[in-house]
Amino acid sequence: MKCSTFLSTRDGHCYYRTTMFRSLPRARAFARCLQANPRFRAVSVKEATSGTGWHVIYQPSSQARYAELYYQQYRQRELKGAQTEGRCYRFELVTRGTDAYYLCQSVSKEVYDVTECSCSCPDWTYRGQKSGIPCKHIFAYHRAVAIQEIEALTSVRIRLQTARNALYAAALKTSFEQRCAARGLDINADF
Ligand SMILES: [Zn+2]
Repeated sequence: MKCSTFLSTRDGHCYYRTTMFRSLPRARAFARCLQANPRFRAVSVKEATSGTGWHVIYQPSSQARYAELYYQQYRQRELKGAQTEGRCYRFELVTRGTDAYYLCQSVSKEVYDVTECSCSCPDWTYRGQKSGIPCKHIFAYHRAVAIQEIEALTSVRIRLQTARNALYAAALKTSFEQRCAARGLDINADF
């Protein structure tokens, strides 16, 4: 039986998924075999999204094997984001007050809001947040920062905050000078 692996949108955990069974009794029979085997756990039968059959999904009982599955899902996204298609993404900085994020245009022309630890894409929204595995756009952001193609958001935020602080300081100074002038005080005099 050939199996693929996937990250569940339901619980953010990694699973093996069998190829599709056309018959539900056969899928159930296979699931019972897996349930009887101590090497597997979390066995269940799920209807295929196409509605034309059933998959059996399950996890390895061994923690080491589970870690391999998890790393496989992590690595797939890292490869796409940091090494293959991520090189073609375009980033455009958006600032709002003292906060900032990037608009990331992927190869499929979809545009997502990306920061160093979040993304508005479905993979991050439905899987990444639950599993802790960054999506390919987040990996692409970190690559672009590492090669200095874009400015790190932490540094953008500090720059914005510094500029705002300077504005406040200037406004305070002006107001202080005006109040002194109203009382006939010379702020340049030696006190
Ligand atoms: Zn994303």
